[in-house]
Amino acid sequence: MSELPLNAIFAPRSVAIVGASRDPASLSAGVVRNLLSAGFRGPIYPVNPSARHVLSVPAWASIEALPEVPDLAVVLVPAALVLPAVHACGRAGVGAVAVLTAGFAEVPGGADLQRALVEVAAAHSMRLVGPNCLGVLSTAEDVRLNATFAPTMPPPGNVAFMTQSGALGVAILDTAAALGLGISEFASVGNKADVSGNDLIERWEHDPRTKVILLYLESFGNPRRFAQIARRVSRSKPIVAMKAGRTASGARAAASHTAAMADTDRTIQAVLDHTGVIRVSTVEELFETASLLATQPLPASNRVAIVSNAGGPGVLATDACASRGLELARLSPETTRRLRSALPSEASVTNPVDMIAAADSDTIGACLDAVLADPEVDAVLTLYVPPITADTEAVARAVVRAATCATSKPVAACFMGAHGVPAARHALERGGVPAYAFPEAGARALAHAATHARWRHESEHDGPPKRAPSRIASRPAVSVTQAADGWLDPVPLAALLRRFEVPLVTERVVSYVTEAVKAAAAIEGPVVLKVLAEGVVHKSDRGGVLLDLDGANAVADGFTTLKSRFGDAFRGAIVQPFVRGEVEIIVGGVNDPRAGPLVMFGLGGVAAEVLDDTALQPAPLSEEAAERLIDRSRAAHLLAGHRGRPPCDRAAVRTLLQDVGALLTAHPEVRELDLNPVLVQPDGEGLMVVDARACIQRGRPPR
Ligand code: ADP
Ligand code: MG
Repeated sequence: MSELPLNAIFAPRSVAIVGASRDPASLSAGVVRNLLSAGFRGPIYPVNPSARHVLSVPAWASIEALPEVPDLAVVLVPAALVLPAVHACGRAGVGAVAVLTAGFAEVPGGADLQRALVEVAAAHSMRLVGPNCLGVLSTAEDVRLNATFAPTMPPPGNVAFMTQSGALGVAILDTAAALGLGISEFASVGNKADVSGNDLIERWEHDPRTKVILLYLESFGNPRRFAQIARRVSRSKPIVAMKAGRTASGARAAASHTAAMADTDRTIQAVLDHTGVIRVSTVEELFETASLLATQPLPASNRVAIVSNAGGPGVLATDACASRGLELARLSPETTRRLRSALPSEASVTNPVDMIAAADSDTIGACLDAVLADPEVDAVLTLYVPPITADTEAVARAVVRAATCATSKPVAACFMGAHGVPAARHALERGGVPAYAFPEAGARALAHAATHARWRHESEHDGPPKRAPSRIASRPAVSVTQAADGWLDPVPLAALLRRFEVPLVTERVVSYVTEAVKAAAAIEGPVVLKVLAEGVVHKSDRGGVLLDLDGANAVADGFTTLKSRFGDAFRGAIVQPFVRGEVEIIVGGVNDPRAGPLVMFGLGGVAAEVLDDTALQPAPLSEEAAERLIDRSRAAHLLAGHRGRPPCDRAAVRTLLQDVGALLTAHPEVRELDLNPVLVQPDGEGLMVVDARACIQRGRPPR
């Protein structure tokens, strides 16, 4: 085997079980039993000072007493004894340890013990899996390692699996075995004190046996590093992630579990979308998706043909495909002709193709060949409900043959009912065609594959992300004195925005009525007055924005009104030209302390929060990424010109998104930026930011 990272863990030549108990019902004896029954290719060494043997295997009094230095030590001693045990492993020169024992950072007061454990392992240059985990497993023929206490060994295959939850790992290994989903390697990482999901992804990137990577995550240790690695690996191997904690209460539960951190879900989603990681929300969906990706090629695009022998399921499948963004392929005339000649006249030869109940294996094979040969078709979902007379297994074999011949298009099968179906599903699985119990499951898996394929295409064809030239980016955003209570004052904010070419409306800060009138007179056309007042963030909510003021009297009255309305809190006002725009949008962003810079886009104005129509994209942004960000919000429809309104300057919006991305990237100390609203003009006339806010994180130096 080539030297992959973490080989001492996944391809050890010998394994010690430190803390192996004589009690056959104990977890440690379970590990010994699993190592034996999986047929591990090297020697195993139970270590127990007071046992002569564990499950008929001779036991050793200590690590030092072993006849050779093991590559891997599985540690199961009680928490209080873990440190000395790992220390002994280190002194003996063990390559890596997997600490299955619980009672570390996941329990109150256990963090110190975990830190000490990491230090001991690091001092001896040993990699550490866990603590508080289920162990590791490899199905490689020359390794056959089951160093877990899970009851089932899955069949060998090309899916690598990492889980943060040990209990879920047990369930997943069971399910994989039941579904016949082959596993290459498995790791339960527990508290991820050393070996993390990122380390595993990097190993599996280079592991020739692994084609698909599955992750069950409760937290991201380092989301930015994850994003970097996942984005690279996703180009060659799909990564499917189930991230627990989607809902608010789920997030709280996850936060108190396995030392997890609460992540805001939208941020996580934006990062995952950007990295091409396929996110699923249930364990079922994880398996459905994995079994398609493990066996079938990715579709070139999203046009699906549905071939069924029953009308009802065909309609269900059609709906399921449409609701997941798959398109029903328009079959070419040549395909229609071929189908017509293969099928009786009652059959329907348009997509969804209904072959009618009596279709036999030859007919089904011929129909699948026809649609798979059609250049208008990227993927096929075939549904079969066996009538009482059917040879269901023969139909399954026909599906397998057709799918095997079409090497560049994925085929998913759904055999419904009971008559001969279990055997047929088995034949499909053996033949490498994913078999689903219901059409929705097949549609969902195909949709994930199509989305992933589109991401790959995009990530290969996108231009470079836009960054500010270094002479601009390297200047500090702001000196600390310019930001009162975290919010940046208007004048330095305007300077910062202009530096990044953000078109902010010309504005003057005024303190007296005469000043206000003078500033307004210098502006052509009507003006706007906005209050500057202590503690007022949303000005218009408090009657602090006066629009469309025409003439000196209106301005003077307006200023006086604001002054009396805000009393002691009043600090002055801003005078701006009154700008007309076609559409109000919001452009903003955050520098998430963990996920990094993200740009936000959506419908804007004072109702932005209520409409809640915003999308996020990690920065910096390429032109193409900015275009996609626009399309993810309903604001895109308004920008296109709606109900007789002219189309808006979309190119200017795209540039603004890229510039904001460049600003956030260059200035991590800008924690939040809010341009709301941005008034977008008709095509070719640009846009104008009329309200801006930025929150500065004190003491956070630029990267
Ligand atoms: P806030 O968000 O603090 O309530 P804004 O400055 O965003 O205050 O103003 C509220 C609304 O007033 C904006 O959503 C926009 O519709 C309108 N508005 C603000 N400034 C201008 C301007 N210069 N020209 C035209 N309309 C404006
Ligand atoms: Mg505003």
